[in-house]
Amino acid sequence: MSGKQVSIENYRDVWIFTEIQDHERVLEGALELLSKGREIADTLGVKLYAVVFALEAEQYLPVVERYGPDVILYCSDRGLKHYDSQIFPDIYTRLINEYRPSIILFPSTEAGTDLAPRLAQRFGTGLTSHCTGLSIMDSDVYGKGLLVMKRPAYSGNAIATVICPRRRPQMATVQQGVFDKKEIHGRKTEIVRLPFNFDIDQLSVVSLEAPKRWDKPKVPLEQASVVIAGGRGLGSKRNFDTLFELAEILGGEVGATRVPVFNRWCGEERMIGQTGKTIRPQLYLGFGISGQIQHTASIVDSEIIVSINTSTAAPITELSDYVITEDAHAILCRLIERLKTEKRTV
Ligand SMILES: Cc1cc2nc3c(=O)[nH]c(=O)nc-3n(C[C@H](O)[C@H](O)[C@H](O)COP(=O)(O)OP(=O)(O)OC[C@H]3O[C@@H](n4cnc5c(N)ncnc54)[C@H](O)[C@@H]3O)c2cc1C
Repeated sequence: MSGKQVSIENYRDVWIFTEIQDHERVLEGALELLSKGREIADTLGVKLYAVVFALEAEQYLPVVERYGPDVILYCSDRGLKHYDSQIFPDIYTRLINEYRPSIILFPSTEAGTDLAPRLAQRFGTGLTSHCTGLSIMDSDVYGKGLLVMKRPAYSGNAIATVICPRRRPQMATVQQGVFDKKEIHGRKTEIVRLPFNFDIDQLSVVSLEAPKRWDKPKVPLEQASVVIAGGRGLGSKRNFDTLFELAEILGGEVGATRVPVFNRWCGEERMIGQTGKTIRPQLYLGFGISGQIQHTASIVDSEIIVSINTSTAAPITELSDYVITEDAHAILCRLIERLKTEKRTV
């Protein structure tokens, strides 16, 4: 354990792992967490910290500032171009020992879900993964100002409520898309540049480039106003690819259940559900999707849900505003044809 034994009263403040995605933008999920973190920090009367590690990190600070942190701790170096399983935990460990945050929140991304458990192990503290709800509670038994973390349990059939009363920091990874992001104007942010003092020669793995995401949505699914989603009922990658044509016409993005992702019909950035993205589009079209809870829990906030399924018994029909009982690919092709004709005649 590399965390020093320090009384929990000495820990305060809320930290957000403000992840930079593909070294080009601040991750949406990190901005959502900054907004939720602001709410939590205000409830506790403590400071909100955004922690930004990146190559040329300065370029991201104006965006981060808009989401209301009291302090931005940032480090800028070419060693931070991609997330690294040695460098990030090492710098974080030193910072946590120095600043002693009480709460640290991470987006449930590849980087967040690698970094958080490493830190939890080093500090001998608890970590709740893939949370979908966060709040603060006071308890006569466990103490005041505790982070309450909610997450799906038993394959999404129950919600577990977790607290970490005896160790610090309290840590959670959080599903993207579950919280709203809110800009805050007129708040003063202190900006602190940290030195990069990791000895690169210590690295046991030298990675020059991160693997390219082979199928990356143009718009993050959490922000898309139209989501055209496909499942096993589409039957093949070829049929699944037709979804992109409809998405192009409707100005939407393509999403999927776990089945197309596992079959490599599309990339994992498109997975919607408990282990994927949470979406809130104006329109969700589900082609050949049964509607298991692990998927539907993340689409319930869609304004209009349309499902296309050959079975009337599919659970998705219960939460659909419109149900089409037909072959998914046949409907998809007819819809595209019709929309193209309509467009020509306008
Ligand atoms: C811990 C855990 C986490 C999980 N996380 C996720 C997650 O994040 N996201 C996720 O999606 N899943 C997740 N799953 C998997 C989930 O339980 C389901 O297995 C999955 O969502 C089912 O995908 P599906 O609807 O594409 O396939 P199926 O459940 O097999 O449904 C296919 C549907 O297509 C219909 N169909 C068949 N042929 C046609 C046709 N020609 N035309 C129209 N309809 C047709 C069928 O009637 C059926 O309803 C998770 C599971 C576990 C245990």
